[in-house]
Amino acid sequence: MALATGVPNLVSAQAAGEVGIDRVTRETLCGIGRGRNCDIKLAVRLGLFETGLRPRFPANAQCRNIDEQWAIDYTPKRRREAYHGGIDMPAPFGAPIIAAAAGTVVSVSEGANSFRGREIILRHSPSDTGIDLWIYTQYAHFDRGPNLTVGARVAMGQVLGPTGNSGRRLKRGGRQQRQRRPAIHFAVWFSDHPGYAVHRNKIIPVKGRWMDPNALYRNTSPFASNAMKALPKSDKRVPIPVMFEDGKTYPTGTKLIWPYACKRK
Ligand SMILES: [Zn+2]
Repeated sequence: MALATGVPNLVSAQAAGEVGIDRVTRETLCGIGRGRNCDIKLAVRLGLFETGLRPRFPANAQCRNIDEQWAIDYTPKRRREAYHGGIDMPAPFGAPIIAAAAGTVVSVSEGANSFRGREIILRHSPSDTGIDLWIYTQYAHFDRGPNLTVGARVAMGQVLGPTGNSGRRLKRGGRQQRQRRPAIHFAVWFSDHPGYAVHRNKIIPVKGRWMDPNALYRNTSPFASNAMKALPKSDKRVPIPVMFEDGKTYPTGTKLIWPYACKRK
């Protein structure tokens, strides 16, 4: 039984998920973490660019739609080159934000100094989603909570917390910008490696990449932004699986849903 050195480490990483920050390359740390001293081009290289995907909700469903699209230019909002690392759907204060798939809580943050405010990140195993990748979903701007702790398991559709408008805003000319509208900020990362590091309340998947959140709902490989951008126009309207307010899903048996429940028309 000749086991190569390093194999036991890999096995324990697969079991636990969390690994040391030394297991993440500088490019991944910067490209996903987007720290102050990071070149934004690293994030772009990892998939943070516009793909043109748009959601198409079921005909009998009235759902909360996106008002700020994936990877749009946020440079004016951040006073340095920046792109929107997710999608935003406006909703009234208190509207329940729900888990897009079964998963495990890997981060809960008050986000006092973050643009995203109160947020939670879930990690989804291949068996959680039916997709042969490790997927991370982030939900932000909660009004309160979320009242979940790291390590907790959540079910698809479980309420994570109430919509709000938490999160720092830049001051302009000494005056605070107008209030942020209440909305969810929803982001997705993926990796074929099970490990992730925690760095300053950020989750950095080993070999992590950005995913246009609409791509997740295609529920089939590939998911990378370059492949999404290259799709024919007719494939860029993504049929979205949803949960209705009564807890039933469409289609039946889906392992992925939009992070707000929809009303029946
Ligand atoms: Zn956002």
